[in-house]
Amino acid sequence: MYKPTLDYAQQLDKEDKLAHLRAQFHIPKDKDGNDWLYFTGNSLGLQPKQTQQYIQQELDDWAKYGVEGHFEARNPWMPYHEFLTNSMAKIVGAKPLEVVVMNTLTTNLHLLMVSFYQPTKTKYKIVIESDAFPSDRYAVQSQLKFHGFDAEDGLIEWKPREREELLRIEDLEKIVDEQGDEIALLLIGGVNYYTGQYLDIKRIAEIGHAKNCIVGIDLAHGAGNISPELHDSGVDFAAWCTYKYLNSGPGSLAGLFVHEKHAHNKELPRFAGWWNHNKETRFNMRQPFDVIPGAEGWQLSNPPILSMAAIRASLDMFEEVGMEALRAKSEKLTGYFEYLINQIDTDRIKIITPSNPKERGCQLSIQVKNADKSLHKKLTENNIITDWREPDVIRCAPVPMYNSFEDVYRMVETLKTLL
Ligand SMILES: *Cc1c(COP(=O)(O)O)cnc(C)c1O
Repeated sequence: MYKPTLDYAQQLDKEDKLAHLRAQFHIPKDKDGNDWLYFTGNSLGLQPKQTQQYIQQELDDWAKYGVEGHFEARNPWMPYHEFLTNSMAKIVGAKPLEVVVMNTLTTNLHLLMVSFYQPTKTKYKIVIESDAFPSDRYAVQSQLKFHGFDAEDGLIEWKPREREELLRIEDLEKIVDEQGDEIALLLIGGVNYYTGQYLDIKRIAEIGHAKNCIVGIDLAHGAGNISPELHDSGVDFAAWCTYKYLNSGPGSLAGLFVHEKHAHNKELPRFAGWWNHNKETRFNMRQPFDVIPGAEGWQLSNPPILSMAAIRASLDMFEEVGMEALRAKSEKLTGYFEYLINQIDTDRIKIITPSNPKERGCQLSIQVKNADKSLHKKLTENNIITDWREPDVIRCAPVPMYNSFEDVYRMVETLKTLL
């Protein structure tokens, strides 16, 4: 099995078939030119070196063609979002018809709820995880209020049990069993941002659908990290951002998934704009609204090409490597990280992320007893970039695209001395 030595970590890097990818990213450095040990790809992924050239191409074509770039650019802007669809669909395990890149994550969640949160007087409640990402919580609370319900009464939290950190699927089952007649929607984070727990979304879909609830998944921490097989899971909808594990730049556009079973339902309530109107007649400008089938039918506006160029640069890398190879390395890399942490001789440390690789992505959330934010500060002073969550958790994501086994080794060595 693993060994806790630098030699061994370097050996793993030598054997790693994806090790060459690191050189294709800009790795931030300290003022002396040493690489940071960057473990916050779960917050903002690093920049692929080829991103600049992809964006430059669109700047050049804008300079050269002006408005004609919509048709004349090397990558015509009119169908530009279509260039992203196939690779994005593969990453989340969907059919191309089911996926589109547009807007930002919270905006997409709202647009999806416009269609899929259709409460009645008696069936109106929404289930979220008790430690859902704040934006998701605010979004569902505001949807409840928008439909005239009390946000507190309408929100059901799926909580970890007393003295536990992780969610148990049986507890969700119980909630839906007992209160399903009042529940309209389950909106669950596929990979929890805080604990790193990867939930069985297929099971969640079955639980929700058994009581006629719509099931939506937030994949912000899942896309590019785990393989969620969205189509086969049967969930109704999903959304995710592209600036975390998908390395597409700060605030970049988001992904949206609507299951094929809803693709041709023109009766679904939805907001409209010219970009979800039939492409054939869009520019006649005077036709009555005729919605595009599939996920594209949720677009509103013509999209920002410069941001899409950055997404395209990154997705081309994912296309080349494939999620399978990335996942294989990820399990090994995070497994090594976990092993090294468990070697530290202290009772102050506890990993709250599940130990089963099938129930997590690359992130480990490490709880350090009696620690405060000064630990995070000291890590940063040592070039180790992690994410601190009050009161005492370090979130740390070794990303298989650009982190090495040596990164992980050096991180744990420093953590040891700081403790
Ligand atoms: C990162 C993240 C967000 C951020 O939402 P934006 O609309 O992109 O600002 C929302 N939800 C979850 C679960 C996240 O992890």
